[in-house]
Amino acid sequence: MQSKVLGRVCSTLKPTCMQHCQRVTPSLSALQSRLYSSGQEADVVVIGSGPGGYVAAIKAAQLGMNTVCIEKEATLGGTCLNVGCIPSKALLNNSHYYHMAHSEDFKNRGIEVAQVSLNLEKFMGAKLAAVKALTGGIVHLFKQNKVTLIKGHGKITGANEVTALKEDGSSEVVKTKNIVIATGSEVTPFPGIEIDEKTVVSSTGALSLSAVPKKLVVIGAGVIGLELGSVWGRLGAEVTAVEFLNSIGGIGIDGEVSKTFQRTLGKQGIKFKLGHKVTGAQQEGANIRVSIENAKDPSKKEELDCDVLLVCVGRRPYTINLGLEELGIERDEKGRIPVNSRFQTVIPNIYAIGDCIHGPMLAHKAEDEGIVCMEGIGGGPVHIDYNCVPSVIYTHPEVAWVGRSEEDLKTDGVEYKVGKFPFAANSRAKTNNDTDGFVKVLGDKVTDRLLGVHIIGPSAGELIAEAVLAMEYGASCEDIARTCHAHPTCSEAFREANVAAAFGKPINF
Ligand SMILES: Cc1cc2nc3c(=O)[nH]c(=O)nc-3n(C[C@H](O)[C@H](O)[C@H](O)COP(=O)(O)OP(=O)(O)OC[C@H]3O[C@@H](n4cnc5c(N)ncnc54)[C@H](O)[C@@H]3O)c2cc1C
Repeated sequence: MQSKVLGRVCSTLKPTCMQHCQRVTPSLSALQSRLYSSGQEADVVVIGSGPGGYVAAIKAAQLGMNTVCIEKEATLGGTCLNVGCIPSKALLNNSHYYHMAHSEDFKNRGIEVAQVSLNLEKFMGAKLAAVKALTGGIVHLFKQNKVTLIKGHGKITGANEVTALKEDGSSEVVKTKNIVIATGSEVTPFPGIEIDEKTVVSSTGALSLSAVPKKLVVIGAGVIGLELGSVWGRLGAEVTAVEFLNSIGGIGIDGEVSKTFQRTLGKQGIKFKLGHKVTGAQQEGANIRVSIENAKDPSKKEELDCDVLLVCVGRRPYTINLGLEELGIERDEKGRIPVNSRFQTVIPNIYAIGDCIHGPMLAHKAEDEGIVCMEGIGGGPVHIDYNCVPSVIYTHPEVAWVGRSEEDLKTDGVEYKVGKFPFAANSRAKTNNDTDGFVKVLGDKVTDRLLGVHIIGPSAGELIAEAVLAMEYGASCEDIARTCHAHPTCSEAFREANVAAAFGKPINF
């Protein structure tokens, strides 16, 4: 253990940690928040109040910059709080309860509930209450931190100027030293299929359907498609997901986890058409006929009927009418704004963060970029280890991962070892009768350093945080194997997987 402890101390010399220490300097030098007043020059204007923008604005104010945030929508919080993470998780949580009460699950636990029924209006009301509380919370945080909010469409009208175009036709010009673009992303359309958000819906419409579909076809078996497919499947819809790839779960998921995930969702009733592409959809009265063909052999065609079609083929950066062209800020082939490692565009005092730049489209990635970008503007160092950004799919069981997958390590030619532990052998999972899945850790064969963690199972989205922390600090599998974990908890499965990787065998399996 001693050598591992020393290893940990040494690993804190990696850039992330050195920069954590140095970061104290700018924040201590200017902690006094200053309120922007109209006509004054701001230190920074943030365009967009999603998780990237609102967190960046609060951090800037906390660093003593007088800060303006411009948002075009009526409520703050962007995609995440309004039509993304928060409403989808509210529906996932409550549909899971409904499913447990409605299926044999409750009965098997000795809980007998008569006449379980769904009140969809109230169900949606609970989602709206969560969204309202959290979006309203940002208004409060802005006031508390002295961030000035301007409602309107922000357009960059000069390297040191943003104009807010307001709903009533008026405009407000804000002079500023720095500009941070945090305008996020929008749903990627599917060529030839028009979204009406009623029967042909994007993720936004799928969060607010007025009735449970009888048959739901989902185009795309990535994270959002599977989460929303799960919601409506649990509420009674017959769900079929059509996916061009031969696996589910999107980019970065470990192949073995993806296969187990597909099997588990299959047992829950979701049908998959993998290796198929959608070629069109025709509305015929209340029925939508979806045409699909085999990706390898286009002569193999099929038609699927449904009453709701959910188009979930990804998101694209949103940078409409921002004034980028006029300033000579070009976008890449995916519509993203190119930035350097300090998040500067080609104009050094104009920065961009979140979904509108490179990297995974995730709320926590946008938040972290917002924080370090502001620290950079304040004179501090800027560093994010994208290998330590976790991904979570909030189905049941949950799926979560961080770092490299087995496929990545094979491609990179890294020698690795695998430690695995099934939840079926974990006492807490067994006690809770929630045993689907496993923890899989990948360690460097030579140094024992933890390289990747892949979890499918109960509370995977919470468990992954320990893996992220371990990877940030350059922990070895043995470090985790020797760390005491509370009993009985699902986190013991993570420890046991590391015991397996470090010593060749877990204790309890
Ligand atoms: C259904 C769904 C579920 C999701 N679930 C998760 C999840 O569980 N976990 C996770 O990490 N991520 C999730 N995401 C992704 C997550 O929502 C995004 O990655 C995140 O919101 C990106 O943050 P952002 O600040 O970059 O942009 P956004 O949240 O898109 O915010 C951008 C903001 O800028 C505003 N804006 C744009 N242009 C202008 C302008 N010119 N002037 C003024 N305002 C402007 C927009 O109105 C918006 O409020 C989900 C997404 C969807 C659609």
